[in-house]
Amino acid sequence: MLTLKQYIVHADQKHTAIGHFNISNLEGLKAIFSVAKKMDVPVIIGTSENEREWIGVKQCVALVRSLREEFNYPIFLNADHTYSFERVKEAIDAGYDSVIFDGAKLSLGDNIEETKKCVDYARSINPEIVVEGELGYIGSSSKMLETIPDDVQTSLLNLTKPEDAERFVKETGVDFLAPAVGNIHGMLKHGKDPDLDIERIKAIRERSGVPLVLHGGSGNTDHDFRRAIVNGVAVIHINTEIRRAFRTALESFLKNNPDEIAPYRLMENAVYEMEKVVEEKLKVFTVHAG
Ligand SMILES: [Zn+2]
Repeated sequence: MLTLKQYIVHADQKHTAIGHFNISNLEGLKAIFSVAKKMDVPVIIGTSENEREWIGVKQCVALVRSLREEFNYPIFLNADHTYSFERVKEAIDAGYDSVIFDGAKLSLGDNIEETKKCVDYARSINPEIVVEGELGYIGSSSKMLETIPDDVQTSLLNLTKPEDAERFVKETGVDFLAPAVGNIHGMLKHGKDPDLDIERIKAIRERSGVPLVLHGGSGNTDHDFRRAIVNGVAVIHINTEIRRAFRTALESFLKNNPDEIAPYRLMENAVYEMEKVVEEKLKVFTVHAG
């Protein structure tokens, strides 16, 4: 089995992307793993600060590791959006394969300084730990949105500049970079998410010299995904669409089966609907785009 870093580099070279899916519970993990395994593609499980607090930091590591070991399968764990060095350190110490320090709201100088601190710490523990940096704010919720929040609206006018990306990567030493290229966290309830700025993705990939990670993939079109992948995106994050599938399926099951009380039966339909989302995305991400 390759390391996560090697899988991402391979995806970048082959013009495919690895799916990064967030979980809040065992059902999510079950759905994501079963689809990845069926399609025989590597996969990344993400947990935000809140998600990993709910499951337990060490428990997340134990769960993902148990699948990797039992099935000798390339499933990896990422500490998604982590806002402090302390919590990055906590995830690394617990055994996460990958961490994201999110300093997108800091000034460029402060973001570089804090990210560098996380990179240095990760390298001192294990050089194979992946460290991703964030440059450009794209909102912070994995929700169904009525409208694009004001601060994200402003950010859409200030997307990541290729020259900033180059400086950020050079000075921090991050393995991968998540830029703001028209993507937003969460997805619009009515209407479609903004288009991705493909030219910018291409320019940032070239100047930064590292594969890119696309956050907030929920709500983006397959056409945009394919073009983003060809131009330098090697990992794509999906959360909101899985959450929506879970809730909708659970709600309808409860409504139609008022007497059922076995949790594993209540959740069956939700797992199935989450699997459908994961499969749909992985089919787009892992097709050789050219
Ligand atoms: Zn994200």
